[in-house]
Amino acid sequence: MVSIETTRGSYALDVLPPTWGTKRVSDHRCLPTTALHILSNGRRFVEPDFAQAYASISHHDSMVGIPIYSSISQIHDYIVQADGAFDETVRGILNLKAQRQRVEIRVVVHRQNYKGLVDLAEFIARNLTFVDQVVLMGLEMTGFAKANLLELWIDPVEYQRELYAAASILDDLGIRTSIYNHQLCTIDRRLWPLAVKSISDWKNEYRPECAPCVVKDRCGGFFETGRLRQSGHISPVLVDGALS
Ligand code: SF4
Repeated sequence: MVSIETTRGSYALDVLPPTWGTKRVSDHRCLPTTALHILSNGRRFVEPDFAQAYASISHHDSMVGIPIYSSISQIHDYIVQADGAFDETVRGILNLKAQRQRVEIRVVVHRQNYKGLVDLAEFIARNLTFVDQVVLMGLEMTGFAKANLLELWIDPVEYQRELYAAASILDDLGIRTSIYNHQLCTIDRRLWPLAVKSISDWKNEYRPECAPCVVKDRCGGFFETGRLRQSGHISPVLVDGALS
């Protein structure tokens, strides 16, 4: 499935027929100035014709966000429960970039993959340097993640060493790198300049302990669904010491 996020809302498409582009995305009468962020597993773009059809839309402002969970194909395939997915996804990204399309790599960090974050950053740095951005994301507890909470949930404080090392590898190389879905008080302060207030207003909330926090206006807060599990290190920041 492919999900399209626009400044006017989100849309989900079950399939991407070859005519999808001309019918949906390039209808400039409906979306003349809207930026499109398309969430996809990237596998369909392994077909060069499909990548070319997508590129032929020539949308003025679109980006495809594609998840990669590990540099080890078997681990990525296990997480997405699809044999051969890693290979197709990487080749799909290469096809999109060969067509000069904008690509974001999304890395959702959880218990199953955090130990491989640095290896994944090095893999991206070596093989996919030309992507437009990399986003290192906290887990949103919906759907598959909610059903597998015990296996996936990890307190973000536990993976700060890996997160900082991975982000540094990418950022130092000049790859645009961002951190989404994390509360500022749970991440290394050296990462604050990369942290984005990424949770949409309509599904975002704060806790009572956030009230005196001096960085609340810059902190992404929590998903509404985050009540299922939350870091044991939520604590108001009383002195704004972000490094920049
Ligand atoms: S106390 Fe609340 S507002 Fe402050 S950094 Fe933590 S989660 Fe964000």
